[in-house]
Amino acid sequence: MKKIAFSICLCVALVSCGGDKQNADTKNTQNKDAQFDQYKKNFVEELWKVYPGWASSQGYHKYDSVLVVPDEASRAKEMAFAKANLDSLKSYDLSSLSDNNKTDYRMIGNQLNSISWSITDLKSFEWNPSEYNVSGAFAEMLNGDYDAADVRLRNFYLKMANIPAFYEAAKKNIKNPTVEHTQLAIDQNLGGISVFETDFQEALNKTKFGEHEKQAMEATAKQAVDAIKGYAEWLKKLDNKTPRSFRLGKELYAKKFEYDIQSGYTVDEIYQKALKHKNYLHQKMYGLTEKLWHKYLSGTHIPDDSLKAIRMMIDKISEKHVQADSFQAAITQQIPVLIDFIKKKDLIYIDPSKPLVVRKEPDYMAGVAGASISAPGPYDKGGKTFYNVGSLSGWDKAKAESYLREYNYYILQILNIHEAIPGHYTQLVYSNQSPSLIKSLFGNNAMIEGWAVYTERMMLESGYGDNADEMWLMYYKWNLRSTCNTILDYSVHTKDMSKEDAMHLLVDEAFQQKTEAENKWRRVSVTQVQLCCYYTGYTEIYDFREELKKQMGDKFDLKKFHEKFLSYGSAPVKYIKELMLSEMNTSTN
Ligand code: ZN
Ligand code: ZN
Repeated sequence: MKKIAFSICLCVALVSCGGDKQNADTKNTQNKDAQFDQYKKNFVEELWKVYPGWASSQGYHKYDSVLVVPDEASRAKEMAFAKANLDSLKSYDLSSLSDNNKTDYRMIGNQLNSISWSITDLKSFEWNPSEYNVSGAFAEMLNGDYDAADVRLRNFYLKMANIPAFYEAAKKNIKNPTVEHTQLAIDQNLGGISVFETDFQEALNKTKFGEHEKQAMEATAKQAVDAIKGYAEWLKKLDNKTPRSFRLGKELYAKKFEYDIQSGYTVDEIYQKALKHKNYLHQKMYGLTEKLWHKYLSGTHIPDDSLKAIRMMIDKISEKHVQADSFQAAITQQIPVLIDFIKKKDLIYIDPSKPLVVRKEPDYMAGVAGASISAPGPYDKGGKTFYNVGSLSGWDKAKAESYLREYNYYILQILNIHEAIPGHYTQLVYSNQSPSLIKSLFGNNAMIEGWAVYTERMMLESGYGDNADEMWLMYYKWNLRSTCNTILDYSVHTKDMSKEDAMHLLVDEAFQQKTEAENKWRRVSVTQVQLCCYYTGYTEIYDFREELKKQMGDKFDLKKFHEKFLSYGSAPVKYIKELMLSEMNTSTN
Protein backbone atom coordinates (compact mmCIF):
# COMPACT_ATOMS: atom_id res chain seq x y z
CA MET A 1 0.00 0.00 0.00
CA LYS A 2 2.90 2.27 0.78
CA LYS A 3 3.93 1.99 -2.83
CA ILE A 4 0.88 3.81 -4.13
CA ALA A 5 2.37 6.76 -5.84
CA PHE A 6 0.81 9.75 -4.30
CA SER A 7 1.06 13.39 -4.43
CA ILE A 8 -1.75 15.47 -3.35
CA CYS A 9 -1.09 18.29 -5.48
CA LEU A 10 -1.61 20.19 -8.42
CA CYS A 11 0.55 17.35 -9.59
CA VAL A 12 3.38 19.24 -11.17
CA ALA A 13 6.48 17.09 -10.97
CA LEU A 14 8.96 17.61 -8.21
CA VAL A 15 11.57 19.25 -10.34
CA SER A 16 12.70 22.58 -9.00
CA CYS A 17 16.10 22.93 -7.46
CA GLY A 18 19.38 21.69 -8.95
CA GLY A 19 20.22 18.00 -8.78
CA ASP A 20 23.48 18.14 -6.83
CA LYS A 21 22.19 20.27 -4.07
CA GLN A 22 19.17 18.06 -3.77
CA ASN A 23 21.34 14.96 -3.44
CA ALA A 24 23.40 16.62 -0.74
CA ASP A 25 20.22 17.67 1.07
CA THR A 26 18.80 14.18 0.89
CA LYS A 27 21.98 12.72 2.31
CA ASN A 28 22.03 15.23 5.09
CA THR A 29 18.43 14.42 5.96
CA GLN A 30 19.14 10.69 6.00
CA ASN A 31 22.02 11.28 8.36
CA LYS A 32 20.00 13.44 10.69
CA ASP A 33 17.16 10.98 10.58
CA ALA A 34 19.43 8.09 11.49
CA GLN A 35 20.67 10.09 14.47
CA PHE A 36 17.16 10.99 15.49
CA ASP A 37 16.00 7.37 15.14
CA GLN A 38 18.76 6.38 17.53
CA TYR A 39 17.73 9.13 19.92
CA LYS A 40 14.11 7.91 19.85
CA LYS A 41 15.25 4.39 20.67
CA ASN A 42 17.16 5.58 23.71
CA PHE A 43 14.33 7.88 24.68
CA VAL A 44 11.82 5.04 24.82
CA GLU A 45 14.23 2.86 26.84
CA GLU A 46 14.58 5.70 29.35
CA LEU A 47 10.84 6.32 29.34
CA TRP A 48 10.22 2.74 30.42
CA LYS A 49 12.65 3.05 33.31
CA VAL A 50 10.71 6.03 34.59
CA TYR A 51 7.28 4.52 33.80
CA PRO A 52 7.62 0.74 34.18
CA GLY A 53 3.87 0.28 34.62
CA TRP A 54 3.16 2.02 31.35
CA ALA A 55 5.78 -0.20 29.71
CA SER A 56 3.99 -3.35 30.87
CA SER A 57 0.67 -2.07 29.61
CA GLN A 58 2.20 -1.58 26.16
CA GLY A 59 3.59 -5.11 26.06
CA TYR A 60 7.17 -4.31 27.11
CA HIS A 61 7.74 -6.67 29.99
CA LYS A 62 11.27 -6.02 31.18
CA TYR A 63 10.07 -4.07 34.23
CA ASP A 64 7.02 -6.12 35.13
CA SER A 65 8.24 -6.65 38.68
CA VAL A 66 8.53 -2.94 39.45
CA LEU A 67 5.86 -0.85 41.13
CA VAL A 68 6.85 2.80 41.41
CA VAL A 69 5.98 4.44 44.72
CA PRO A 70 4.39 7.77 43.76
CA ASP A 71 6.32 9.98 46.15
CA GLU A 72 8.25 13.23 45.93
CA ALA A 73 11.35 11.42 44.71
CA SER A 74 9.53 9.73 41.84
CA ARG A 75 8.09 13.06 40.71
CA ALA A 76 11.56 14.59 40.82
CA LYS A 77 12.73 11.76 38.60
CA GLU A 78 9.95 12.47 36.11
CA MET A 79 10.80 16.17 36.07
CA ALA A 80 14.47 15.43 35.47
CA PHE A 81 13.58 13.04 32.67
CA ALA A 82 11.39 15.65 30.99
CA LYS A 83 13.98 18.38 31.32
CA ALA A 84 16.88 16.28 30.04
CA ASN A 85 14.95 15.15 27.00
CA LEU A 86 13.60 18.59 26.17
CA ASP A 87 17.25 19.64 26.15
CA SER A 88 18.20 16.75 23.88
CA LEU A 89 15.45 17.68 21.45
CA LYS A 90 16.96 21.14 21.10
CA SER A 91 20.04 19.66 19.48
CA TYR A 92 18.01 18.51 16.46
CA ASP A 93 17.06 20.85 13.68
CA LEU A 94 13.42 20.08 12.98
CA SER A 95 13.61 21.16 9.35
CA SER A 96 16.33 18.60 8.60
CA LEU A 97 14.14 15.64 9.59
CA SER A 98 11.78 13.48 7.56
CA ASP A 99 8.04 14.02 7.87
CA ASN A 100 7.70 10.97 10.08
CA ASN A 101 10.41 12.26 12.40
CA LYS A 102 9.11 15.81 12.35
CA THR A 103 5.81 14.68 13.79
CA ASP A 104 7.53 12.31 16.22
CA TYR A 105 9.76 15.15 17.39
CA ARG A 106 6.80 17.34 18.17
CA MET A 107 4.84 14.59 19.82
CA ILE A 108 7.76 13.78 22.11
CA GLY A 109 8.13 17.47 22.97
CA ASN A 110 4.44 17.74 23.73
CA GLN A 111 4.53 14.67 25.94
CA LEU A 112 7.48 15.98 27.94
CA ASN A 113 5.97 19.41 28.44
CA SER A 114 2.74 17.77 29.47
CA ILE A 115 4.55 15.61 32.05
CA SER A 116 6.18 18.56 33.71
CA TRP A 117 3.06 20.74 33.56
CA SER A 118 1.02 17.97 35.17
CA ILE A 119 3.41 17.89 38.10
CA THR A 120 3.89 21.62 38.59
CA ASP A 121 0.43 22.97 37.65
CA LEU A 122 -2.29 20.38 37.23
CA LYS A 123 -1.28 18.44 40.36
CA SER A 124 -3.98 15.85 40.04
CA PHE A 125 -1.84 13.60 42.26
CA GLU A 126 -3.12 15.80 45.09
CA TRP A 127 -6.81 16.04 44.25
CA ASN A 128 -7.62 12.85 42.38
CA PRO A 129 -7.43 9.83 44.72
CA SER A 130 -8.56 7.51 41.90
CA GLU A 131 -5.11 7.90 40.33
CA TYR A 132 -4.02 5.40 42.95
CA ASN A 133 -5.34 2.03 41.96
CA VAL A 134 -3.11 -0.95 41.26
CA SER A 135 -5.61 -3.69 40.44
CA GLY A 136 -5.85 -3.15 36.67
CA ALA A 137 -2.13 -3.60 36.08
CA PHE A 138 -2.01 -6.71 38.27
CA ALA A 139 -5.07 -8.21 36.59
CA GLU A 140 -3.30 -7.87 33.24
CA MET A 141 -0.38 -9.87 34.58
CA LEU A 142 -2.71 -12.65 35.63
CA ASN A 143 -4.70 -12.74 32.40
CA GLY A 144 -1.93 -12.04 29.90
CA ASP A 145 -0.53 -14.84 27.78
CA TYR A 146 2.71 -13.09 26.85
CA ASP A 147 4.80 -15.31 29.09
CA ALA A 148 4.67 -18.55 31.08
CA ALA A 149 2.41 -18.46 34.15
CA ASP A 150 5.36 -19.03 36.50
CA VAL A 151 7.19 -15.99 35.19
CA ARG A 152 4.11 -13.80 35.35
CA LEU A 153 3.24 -14.89 38.86
CA ARG A 154 6.75 -14.37 40.21
CA ASN A 155 6.75 -10.84 38.78
CA PHE A 156 3.32 -10.32 40.25
CA TYR A 157 4.71 -11.33 43.62
CA LEU A 158 7.73 -9.04 43.41
CA LYS A 159 5.62 -6.12 42.25
CA MET A 160 3.13 -6.64 45.07
CA ALA A 161 5.80 -5.98 47.68
CA ASN A 162 5.57 -2.24 47.08
CA ILE A 163 1.78 -1.98 47.37
CA PRO A 164 1.76 -0.90 51.04
CA ALA A 165 4.36 1.81 50.32
CA PHE A 166 2.39 2.82 47.24
CA TYR A 167 -0.74 3.59 49.23
CA GLU A 168 1.21 5.24 52.05
CA ALA A 169 2.66 7.66 49.48
CA ALA A 170 -0.83 8.22 48.06
CA LYS A 171 -2.13 9.25 51.48
CA LYS A 172 0.72 11.73 51.84
CA ASN A 173 0.03 13.25 48.42
CA ILE A 174 -3.69 13.79 48.80
CA LYS A 175 -4.88 17.28 49.74
CA ASN A 176 -8.49 18.51 49.54
CA PRO A 177 -9.51 15.92 46.95
CA THR A 178 -12.72 16.33 45.01
CA VAL A 179 -15.71 14.45 46.38
CA GLU A 180 -16.32 12.77 43.00
CA HIS A 181 -12.80 11.41 42.59
CA THR A 182 -12.74 10.32 46.22
CA GLN A 183 -15.89 8.25 45.75
CA LEU A 184 -14.55 6.84 42.49
CA ALA A 185 -11.31 5.85 44.21
CA ILE A 186 -13.17 4.05 46.98
CA ASP A 187 -15.40 2.15 44.53
CA GLN A 188 -12.64 1.21 42.13
CA ASN A 189 -10.12 0.17 44.76
CA LEU A 190 -12.61 -1.99 46.63
CA GLY A 191 -13.82 -3.37 43.31
CA GLY A 192 -10.29 -4.46 42.43
CA ILE A 193 -9.52 -6.39 45.59
CA SER A 194 -10.71 -9.68 44.10
CA VAL A 195 -7.60 -9.65 41.90
CA PHE A 196 -5.47 -10.26 45.00
CA GLU A 197 -7.96 -12.17 47.11
CA THR A 198 -9.35 -14.71 44.66
CA ASP A 199 -7.86 -14.42 41.15
CA PHE A 200 -4.27 -14.57 42.34
CA GLN A 201 -5.03 -17.49 44.66
CA GLU A 202 -6.68 -19.41 41.83
CA ALA A 203 -3.70 -18.83 39.56
CA LEU A 204 -1.36 -19.87 42.35
CA ASN A 205 -3.24 -23.13 42.91
CA LYS A 206 -2.51 -24.14 39.33
CA THR A 207 1.26 -23.78 39.72
CA LYS A 208 3.85 -26.24 40.97
CA PHE A 209 5.58 -23.74 43.24
CA GLY A 210 6.88 -25.18 46.51
CA GLU A 211 4.82 -24.73 49.69
CA HIS A 212 7.32 -22.28 51.09
CA GLU A 213 7.20 -20.00 48.07
CA LYS A 214 3.43 -20.21 47.90
CA GLN A 215 3.11 -19.18 51.52
CA ALA A 216 5.36 -16.18 51.02
CA MET A 217 3.27 -15.13 48.04
CA GLU A 218 0.02 -15.51 49.93
CA ALA A 219 1.35 -13.47 52.82
CA THR A 220 2.35 -10.65 50.47
CA ALA A 221 -1.06 -10.77 48.81
CA LYS A 222 -2.66 -10.44 52.21
CA GLN A 223 -0.59 -7.33 52.92
CA ALA A 224 -1.64 -5.91 49.55
CA VAL A 225 -5.31 -6.46 50.33
CA ASP A 226 -4.90 -4.81 53.73
CA ALA A 227 -3.20 -1.81 52.14
CA ILE A 228 -5.97 -1.36 49.57
CA LYS A 229 -8.74 -1.74 52.13
CA GLY A 230 -6.86 0.60 54.43
CA TYR A 231 -6.69 3.21 51.69
CA ALA A 232 -10.41 2.98 50.99
CA GLU A 233 -11.17 3.27 54.72
CA TRP A 234 -8.83 6.21 55.03
CA LEU A 235 -10.62 7.97 52.17
CA LYS A 236 -14.02 7.29 53.68
CA LYS A 237 -12.98 8.89 56.94
CA LEU A 238 -10.96 11.70 55.43
CA ASP A 239 -11.61 15.03 57.10
CA ASN A 240 -12.17 16.98 53.90
CA LYS A 241 -13.91 20.21 54.90
CA THR A 242 -12.88 22.17 51.82
CA PRO A 243 -12.98 19.69 48.96
CA ARG A 244 -11.79 20.95 45.65
CA SER A 245 -14.39 21.33 42.90
CA PHE A 246 -14.27 18.65 40.21
CA ARG A 247 -14.52 21.48 37.69
CA LEU A 248 -11.07 22.18 36.36
CA GLY A 249 -11.43 25.92 35.80
CA LYS A 250 -10.67 27.98 32.72
CA GLU A 251 -6.91 28.23 32.89
CA LEU A 252 -6.01 24.63 33.62
CA TYR A 253 -8.63 23.46 31.18
CA ALA A 254 -7.26 25.50 28.30
CA LYS A 255 -3.77 24.20 28.97
CA LYS A 256 -4.88 20.60 29.28
CA PHE A 257 -6.75 20.97 26.01
CA GLU A 258 -3.54 22.18 24.40
CA TYR A 259 -1.51 19.19 25.59
CA ASP A 260 -4.11 16.47 25.19
CA ILE A 261 -5.75 17.52 21.94
CA GLN A 262 -2.95 19.45 20.20
CA SER A 263 -5.46 21.20 18.00
CA GLY A 264 -4.87 24.04 15.58
CA TYR A 265 -7.82 25.74 17.27
CA THR A 266 -7.97 27.08 20.81
CA VAL A 267 -10.55 25.56 23.10
CA ASP A 268 -12.65 28.73 22.97
CA GLU A 269 -12.74 28.56 19.19
CA ILE A 270 -13.78 24.91 19.33
CA TYR A 271 -16.53 25.71 21.81
CA GLN A 272 -17.92 28.47 19.60
CA LYS A 273 -17.80 26.19 16.58
CA ALA A 274 -19.59 23.43 18.47
CA LEU A 275 -22.38 25.80 19.53
CA LYS A 276 -22.87 26.93 15.96
CA HIS A 277 -22.76 23.36 14.72
CA LYS A 278 -25.43 22.34 17.19
CA ASN A 279 -27.76 24.99 15.77
CA TYR A 280 -26.93 23.90 12.25
CA LEU A 281 -27.77 20.31 13.11
CA HIS A 282 -31.06 21.32 14.73
CA GLN A 283 -32.06 23.26 11.62
CA LYS A 284 -31.22 20.37 9.36
CA MET A 285 -33.05 17.94 11.60
CA TYR A 286 -36.16 20.05 11.74
CA GLY A 287 -36.20 20.40 7.97
CA LEU A 288 -36.08 16.61 7.61
CA THR A 289 -38.68 16.13 10.32
CA GLU A 290 -41.13 18.37 8.48
CA LYS A 291 -40.40 16.53 5.27
CA LEU A 292 -40.92 13.09 6.83
CA TRP A 293 -43.89 14.01 8.99
CA HIS A 294 -46.53 12.99 6.50
CA LYS A 295 -44.88 9.65 5.82
CA TYR A 296 -44.66 8.59 9.47
CA LEU A 297 -46.95 10.70 11.61
CA SER A 298 -49.59 12.04 9.27
CA GLY A 299 -52.40 11.65 11.79
CA THR A 300 -50.58 13.61 14.49
CA HIS A 301 -50.32 17.34 14.94
CA ILE A 302 -46.74 18.58 14.56
CA PRO A 303 -45.69 20.34 17.81
CA ASP A 304 -44.77 24.02 17.69
CA ASP A 305 -41.62 23.28 19.63
CA SER A 306 -39.24 22.12 16.91
CA LEU A 307 -37.10 20.08 19.32
CA LYS A 308 -40.17 18.14 20.43
CA ALA A 309 -41.11 17.48 16.83
CA ILE A 310 -37.62 16.17 16.05
CA ARG A 311 -37.73 13.90 19.07
CA MET A 312 -41.05 12.40 17.98
CA MET A 313 -39.67 11.70 14.54
CA ILE A 314 -36.48 10.13 15.92
CA ASP A 315 -38.53 7.89 18.20
CA LYS A 316 -40.68 6.81 15.29
CA ILE A 317 -37.77 6.02 12.97
CA SER A 318 -35.91 4.16 15.74
CA GLU A 319 -38.61 1.51 15.61
CA LYS A 320 -36.87 0.13 12.56
CA HIS A 321 -34.24 -2.09 14.08
CA VAL A 322 -32.91 -5.62 13.86
CA GLN A 323 -34.02 -8.29 16.33
CA ALA A 324 -31.81 -9.19 19.27
CA ASP A 325 -30.86 -12.60 17.87
CA SER A 326 -29.75 -11.17 14.53
CA PHE A 327 -27.80 -8.23 15.95
CA GLN A 328 -24.39 -9.83 15.48
CA ALA A 329 -25.20 -11.14 12.04
CA ALA A 330 -26.42 -7.71 10.92
CA ILE A 331 -23.13 -6.08 11.88
CA THR A 332 -21.09 -8.82 10.22
CA GLN A 333 -23.06 -8.63 6.98
CA GLN A 334 -22.45 -4.90 6.77
CA ILE A 335 -18.69 -5.08 6.26
CA PRO A 336 -18.62 -6.30 2.63
CA VAL A 337 -21.35 -3.81 1.75
CA LEU A 338 -19.22 -0.96 3.05
CA ILE A 339 -16.14 -2.19 1.19
CA ASP A 340 -18.07 -2.45 -2.08
CA PHE A 341 -19.43 1.03 -1.70
CA ILE A 342 -15.98 2.49 -1.03
CA LYS A 343 -14.56 0.75 -4.09
CA LYS A 344 -17.40 1.78 -6.31
CA LYS A 345 -17.12 5.41 -5.26
CA ASP A 346 -13.32 5.39 -5.23
CA LEU A 347 -13.07 6.87 -1.74
CA ILE A 348 -9.92 5.23 -0.37
CA TYR A 349 -7.74 2.22 -1.13
CA ILE A 350 -8.64 -0.75 1.07
CA ASP A 351 -5.80 -3.26 1.30
CA PRO A 352 -7.33 -6.67 0.43
CA SER A 353 -4.44 -8.50 2.09
CA LYS A 354 -5.53 -7.13 5.48
CA PRO A 355 -9.15 -8.12 5.76
CA LEU A 356 -10.96 -7.23 8.93
CA VAL A 357 -11.32 -10.28 11.16
CA VAL A 358 -14.81 -10.17 12.61
CA ARG A 359 -15.31 -12.21 15.76
CA LYS A 360 -17.86 -12.68 18.47
CA GLU A 361 -16.67 -10.62 21.42
CA PRO A 362 -14.50 -12.69 23.77
CA ASP A 363 -15.97 -13.63 27.15
CA TYR A 364 -13.98 -11.15 29.18
CA MET A 365 -15.63 -8.34 27.21
CA ALA A 366 -19.10 -9.80 27.46
CA GLY A 367 -21.86 -7.44 28.39
CA VAL A 368 -20.57 -4.65 26.20
CA ALA A 369 -22.81 -4.93 23.19
CA GLY A 370 -22.10 -3.05 20.04
CA ALA A 371 -18.77 -3.29 18.34
CA SER A 372 -15.17 -2.41 19.01
CA ILE A 373 -11.71 -2.82 17.55
CA SER A 374 -8.94 -4.72 19.38
CA ALA A 375 -5.54 -3.94 17.94
CA PRO A 376 -2.22 -5.48 19.00
CA GLY A 377 0.12 -3.31 21.04
CA PRO A 378 3.33 -1.83 19.60
CA TYR A 379 5.45 -4.72 20.88
CA ASP A 380 3.17 -7.40 19.54
CA LYS A 381 4.04 -7.18 15.86
CA GLY A 382 2.45 -10.45 14.78
CA GLY A 383 -0.77 -9.82 16.68
CA LYS A 384 -4.07 -9.72 14.84
CA THR A 385 -6.61 -6.94 14.77
CA PHE A 386 -10.16 -7.98 15.54
CA TYR A 387 -13.56 -6.46 15.14
CA ASN A 388 -15.39 -7.58 18.27
CA VAL A 389 -19.10 -7.80 17.82
CA GLY A 390 -21.20 -8.06 20.93
CA SER A 391 -24.26 -10.15 21.42
CA LEU A 392 -27.44 -9.34 23.28
CA SER A 393 -28.10 -12.88 24.39
CA GLY A 394 -29.20 -13.03 27.99
CA TRP A 395 -30.39 -9.42 28.07
CA ASP A 396 -33.84 -8.79 29.47
CA LYS A 397 -36.43 -7.72 26.95
CA ALA A 398 -36.84 -4.10 27.94
CA LYS A 399 -33.10 -3.45 28.09
CA ALA A 400 -32.55 -5.13 24.73
CA GLU A 401 -35.40 -3.20 23.11
CA SER A 402 -34.10 0.13 24.31
CA TYR A 403 -30.62 -0.75 23.09
CA LEU A 404 -31.87 -1.91 19.71
CA ARG A 405 -33.80 1.31 19.25
CA GLU A 406 -30.70 3.29 20.09
CA TYR A 407 -28.65 1.20 17.64
CA ASN A 408 -31.45 1.07 15.12
CA TYR A 409 -31.24 0.15 11.44
CA TYR A 410 -29.60 3.47 10.53
CA ILE A 411 -27.31 4.06 13.50
CA LEU A 412 -25.95 0.53 13.28
CA GLN A 413 -24.59 1.32 9.83
CA ILE A 414 -23.02 4.53 11.04
CA LEU A 415 -21.45 2.62 13.92
CA ASN A 416 -19.87 0.21 11.44
CA ILE A 417 -18.49 3.08 9.41
CA HIS A 418 -17.03 4.61 12.56
CA GLU A 419 -15.53 1.51 14.15
CA ALA A 420 -14.56 -0.48 11.09
CA ILE A 421 -14.50 0.70 7.50
CA PRO A 422 -13.40 3.33 6.59
CA GLY A 423 -13.19 4.49 10.24
CA HIS A 424 -10.91 3.13 12.98
CA TYR A 425 -9.91 -0.11 11.30
CA THR A 426 -8.90 1.52 8.03
CA GLN A 427 -6.98 4.25 9.85
CA LEU A 428 -5.13 1.58 11.79
CA VAL A 429 -4.11 -0.29 8.64
CA TYR A 430 -2.72 2.92 7.18
CA SER A 431 -0.91 3.94 10.34
CA ASN A 432 0.80 0.55 10.43
CA GLN A 433 2.28 1.40 7.03
CA SER A 434 4.38 4.16 8.55
CA PRO A 435 5.49 2.44 11.73
CA SER A 436 6.44 4.72 14.56
CA LEU A 437 6.73 3.55 18.11
CA ILE A 438 6.30 7.15 19.22
CA LYS A 439 2.96 7.43 17.46
CA SER A 440 1.81 4.09 18.83
CA LEU A 441 2.57 5.32 22.32
CA PHE A 442 1.57 8.97 22.09
CA GLY A 443 -0.95 8.63 19.24
CA ASN A 444 -3.24 11.63 19.02
CA ASN A 445 -6.75 10.74 20.09
CA ALA A 446 -8.36 13.73 18.45
CA MET A 447 -6.92 12.63 15.11
CA ILE A 448 -7.94 9.01 15.64
CA GLU A 449 -11.49 9.73 16.81
CA GLY A 450 -11.79 12.71 14.48
CA TRP A 451 -11.05 10.50 11.50
CA ALA A 452 -13.72 7.98 12.48
CA VAL A 453 -16.29 10.75 12.99
CA TYR A 454 -15.23 12.43 9.74
CA THR A 455 -15.77 9.24 7.72
CA GLU A 456 -19.40 9.00 8.87
CA ARG A 457 -20.24 12.27 7.16
CA MET A 458 -17.96 11.61 4.20
CA MET A 459 -19.72 8.32 3.47
CA LEU A 460 -23.16 9.87 3.60
CA GLU A 461 -22.05 12.78 1.45
CA SER A 462 -20.80 10.26 -1.08
CA GLY A 463 -24.26 8.76 -1.25
CA TYR A 464 -24.07 5.92 1.23
CA GLY A 465 -27.60 5.05 2.33
CA ASP A 466 -29.02 6.47 -0.90
CA ASN A 467 -29.35 9.90 0.64
CA ALA A 468 -32.42 8.74 2.49
CA ASP A 469 -33.89 11.43 4.73
CA GLU A 470 -34.14 8.91 7.57
CA MET A 471 -30.44 8.09 7.30
CA TRP A 472 -29.47 11.74 7.38
CA LEU A 473 -31.74 12.50 10.31
CA MET A 474 -30.21 9.67 12.32
CA TYR A 475 -26.73 10.68 11.27
CA TYR A 476 -27.36 14.23 12.52
CA LYS A 477 -28.53 12.85 15.83
CA TRP A 478 -25.36 10.78 16.09
CA ASN A 479 -23.18 13.74 15.18
CA LEU A 480 -25.01 15.84 17.74
CA ARG A 481 -23.64 13.50 20.38
CA SER A 482 -19.97 14.35 19.67
CA THR A 483 -20.86 18.01 19.29
CA CYS A 484 -22.67 18.12 22.62
CA ASN A 485 -19.88 16.15 24.32
CA THR A 486 -17.63 19.12 23.59
CA ILE A 487 -20.19 21.71 24.68
CA LEU A 488 -20.85 19.78 27.86
CA ASP A 489 -17.20 19.25 28.79
CA TYR A 490 -16.25 22.86 28.23
CA SER A 491 -19.33 24.26 29.96
CA VAL A 492 -19.03 22.02 32.99
CA HIS A 493 -15.34 22.61 33.54
CA THR A 494 -15.07 26.30 32.71
CA LYS A 495 -18.56 27.78 32.92
CA ASP A 496 -20.01 26.13 35.99
CA MET A 497 -22.80 24.42 34.09
CA SER A 498 -25.27 22.83 36.53
CA LYS A 499 -26.36 19.23 36.33
CA GLU A 500 -29.86 20.39 35.47
CA ASP A 501 -28.61 22.40 32.49
CA ALA A 502 -26.42 19.50 31.44
CA MET A 503 -29.44 17.19 31.44
CA HIS A 504 -31.38 19.69 29.37
CA LEU A 505 -28.56 19.82 26.83
CA LEU A 506 -28.23 16.05 26.54
CA VAL A 507 -31.84 14.98 26.79
CA ASP A 508 -33.82 17.82 25.20
CA GLU A 509 -31.29 19.17 22.76
CA ALA A 510 -29.32 16.03 21.88
CA PHE A 511 -32.26 13.61 22.14
CA GLN A 512 -30.49 11.15 24.44
CA GLN A 513 -32.09 8.68 26.81
CA LYS A 514 -31.99 9.65 30.46
CA THR A 515 -29.66 6.80 31.46
CA GLU A 516 -27.21 7.76 28.75
CA ALA A 517 -27.27 11.37 29.93
CA GLU A 518 -26.77 10.36 33.57
CA ASN A 519 -23.75 8.26 32.61
CA LYS A 520 -22.34 11.16 30.64
CA TRP A 521 -22.71 13.44 33.64
CA ARG A 522 -20.78 10.94 35.74
CA ARG A 523 -18.08 10.78 33.09
CA VAL A 524 -17.72 14.54 32.79
CA SER A 525 -17.33 14.88 36.57
CA VAL A 526 -14.29 12.63 36.67
CA THR A 527 -12.58 13.38 33.34
CA GLN A 528 -11.57 16.61 31.67
CA VAL A 529 -11.01 17.46 27.99
CA GLN A 530 -11.27 13.83 26.85
CA LEU A 531 -14.87 14.29 25.68
CA CYS A 532 -13.70 17.04 23.31
CA CYS A 533 -11.56 14.83 21.11
CA TYR A 534 -14.32 13.54 18.81
CA TYR A 535 -15.74 16.84 17.67
CA THR A 536 -12.42 18.70 17.64
CA GLY A 537 -10.68 16.15 15.44
CA TYR A 538 -13.68 15.85 13.16
CA THR A 539 -14.07 19.55 12.63
CA GLU A 540 -10.36 20.06 12.01
CA ILE A 541 -10.26 17.35 9.35
CA TYR A 542 -13.46 18.51 7.74
CA ASP A 543 -12.40 22.17 7.67
CA PHE A 544 -9.02 21.25 6.26
CA ARG A 545 -10.62 19.23 3.48
CA GLU A 546 -12.98 22.04 2.58
CA GLU A 547 -10.10 24.50 2.53
CA LEU A 548 -8.13 22.28 0.16
CA LYS A 549 -11.14 21.80 -2.08
CA LYS A 550 -11.48 25.53 -2.39
CA GLN A 551 -7.80 25.97 -3.17
CA MET A 552 -7.56 23.13 -5.65
CA GLY A 553 -10.89 23.38 -7.40
CA ASP A 554 -11.26 20.66 -10.07
CA LYS A 555 -7.94 19.15 -9.16
CA PHE A 556 -9.03 18.07 -5.71
CA ASP A 557 -9.17 14.29 -5.48
CA LEU A 558 -11.01 12.88 -2.47
CA LYS A 559 -9.32 9.47 -2.60
CA LYS A 560 -5.84 10.98 -2.75
CA PHE A 561 -6.70 13.34 0.05
CA HIS A 562 -7.74 10.45 2.30
CA GLU A 563 -4.73 8.29 1.52
CA LYS A 564 -2.28 11.11 1.93
CA PHE A 565 -3.91 12.28 5.14
CA LEU A 566 -3.69 8.83 6.72
CA SER A 567 -0.13 8.20 5.53
CA TYR A 568 1.28 10.35 8.36
CA GLY A 569 0.05 8.00 11.08
CA SER A 570 -1.78 9.04 14.23
CA ALA A 571 -0.25 12.51 14.44
CA PRO A 572 -2.18 15.63 15.45
CA VAL A 573 -4.23 17.04 12.59
CA LYS A 574 -2.50 20.41 12.70
CA TYR A 575 0.88 18.82 11.90
CA ILE A 576 -0.52 16.65 9.13
CA LYS A 577 -2.12 19.72 7.66
CA GLU A 578 1.12 21.67 7.82
CA LEU A 579 3.10 18.89 6.14
CA MET A 580 0.52 18.34 3.42
CA LEU A 581 0.32 22.02 2.64
CA SER A 582 4.08 22.43 2.54
CA GLU A 583 4.41 19.46 0.19
CA MET A 584 1.80 21.00 -2.08
CA ASN A 585 3.66 24.25 -2.13
CA THR A 586 7.04 22.70 -2.90
CA SER A 587 5.55 20.70 -5.70
CA THR A 588 3.92 23.70 -7.33
CA ASN A 589 6.77 26.18 -6.95
ZN1 ZN B 1 -38.70 -2.64 18.74
ZN1 ZN C 1 -14.23 5.92 18.00
